[in-house]
Amino acid sequence: MADEHRDPTPAELRALAADVEGLEQRILDVRARLRANEETRDTAFRLDDAAENVRRGREALELTVGDLIRTRTARDPKLCGVPWGVCPEHGNTLRGSGGRTWCTDPACSRSWGYDKLGTACGEPVTHTVTDAAGASFLACRGHAMDAEKRLEGGTVTALPSTTN
Ligand SMILES: [Zn+2]
Ligand SMILES: [Zn+2]
Repeated sequence: MADEHRDPTPAELRALAADVEGLEQRILDVRARLRANEETRDTAFRLDDAAENVRRGREALELTVGDLIRTRTARDPKLCGVPWGVCPEHGNTLRGSGGRTWCTDPACSRSWGYDKLGTACGEPVTHTVTDAAGASFLACRGHAMDAEKRLEGGTVTALPSTTN
């Protein structure tokens, strides 16, 4: 799956940002444990900076994800160009706050460390959405689901091959 000659994908950067967030949490956890003990309390002072630096790294990665999605979506007709994000599985279910976005479907644990709602979609296109007037565009599964709910007199059809 990982091909070093291909451009990095947003998914790859997101995974990296998630790893970095894990590191940040581990540093904060170690810091809290050092502070909780009188004997080790004074050794924890560098870890504030360490956590802060890691957090900045994660933020840079997350901002890069947004930029990369915008760039890729603009040049790749196989990526959904709808200018707002959806959950790839549940559609128009996202909420966002403080630069993070999550799916509100109770069965879904997806969340994103950037403003996915305000970022061009960038998911692979899987459907053609045609409105009642005959105008059509390509959309991802989440946007196709959303369109299906709202369209009156239009059609949503799966593309012949959705295997990328
Ligand atoms: Zn979801
Ligand atoms: Zn989409």
